[in-house]
Amino acid sequence: MILPPGSTIGILGGGQLGRMLSVAAAQLGYKCHILDPHEHPCAAEVSAAFTRASFEDEESVKAFGEQCDVVTYEFENLPVEPLRLLGGKLRPGLQSLSVAQDRGYEKEFIESCGAPVAPWRAVSTVDDVKLAVRDLGLPIVLKTRRYGYDGKGQAWIRSEDEAEQAWDAIGRQPAVAEAKVSFDAEFSVILARGLDGETAAFPLPRNHHEDGILRTSTVPVGSPIDSMAEEAIAAARAIAERLAHIGVLTVEFFASPDGPIVNEIAPRVHNSGHWSIEGAHTSQFEQHLRAVLGLPLGDPSLVSTRATMENLIGADVDRWLDYAGERGASLHLYGKGEARAGRKMGHVTRLG
Ligand code: AMP
Repeated sequence: MILPPGSTIGILGGGQLGRMLSVAAAQLGYKCHILDPHEHPCAAEVSAAFTRASFEDEESVKAFGEQCDVVTYEFENLPVEPLRLLGGKLRPGLQSLSVAQDRGYEKEFIESCGAPVAPWRAVSTVDDVKLAVRDLGLPIVLKTRRYGYDGKGQAWIRSEDEAEQAWDAIGRQPAVAEAKVSFDAEFSVILARGLDGETAAFPLPRNHHEDGILRTSTVPVGSPIDSMAEEAIAAARAIAERLAHIGVLTVEFFASPDGPIVNEIAPRVHNSGHWSIEGAHTSQFEQHLRAVLGLPLGDPSLVSTRATMENLIGADVDRWLDYAGERGASLHLYGKGEARAGRKMGHVTRLG
């Protein structure tokens, strides 16, 4: 069923992704309603309605669902059980959420789709970690199964005697141990899958991280990634099909000498797709909305020869006036208040 303009889109989570979804929704004549536990989530500022409640609060989630025509999410660390109350209104569905929020299930799922991941082991004790060191060799990285993002909940083990220390560093909780991938570059596939199963992939961005946080994304990817694009898009499409995913799905890859290796998936719009607001005929935000609303998917192709997105992290945002004065630079500020270290405060996109 197609939801017409005027309908209300519920968004679980009120961060910058929700904010940019809301702006895209307004352009198409839809209203957004944000559910978030914080007092002033930055998405609420640009949305028609805001409910402040915990995602665990079943009554609030139910009432929220009743006020919305469709409900989507802008981050994956949501409790699954209360969201069952949303029934078929939730797009993407719970399967996409459950797989993406646990690094162990995620890796099993990706492998079951025939896509390669780095050699890994599930670990739940320090002895498991030591076994993983023996089986996988060094270096390896420990990543908590849940609630890790932007390099948080991760610790590297470079020599055998660092195993205990790394286990402590991630808080002695269930994790995956992953072999280090030697890669030439990192990139992502961002694709949308519509209600009718149609898929459309954006041109691939090359992603540069510093301290585990995305710094820049550049489209097109160039060599050697361009030769892997077809294989990577096919893998991402297989994952989307198996999840019966509705909406945008992001799959992050390492470009290794042996080909593309999946790092992780996000069942949502992604920081590496922000360039598409100015750089693509249809942005990732509009594309996601088109998919969950049952509209035809838009054209994700590049409008220029090149697009570069630079994140403004922490104190970077203090230079906002320089960016505002830079000809050809499109400045986005998220209205998040305090510019804490490592916090994503905005981004700048440049075309051509
Ligand atoms: P993640 O939170 O899993 O995306 O990890 C953040 C960043 O750490 C990645 O974008 C990579 O730059 C780096 N990284 C994570 N896992 C590995 C790995 N197995 N081998 C090499 N680098 C990694």
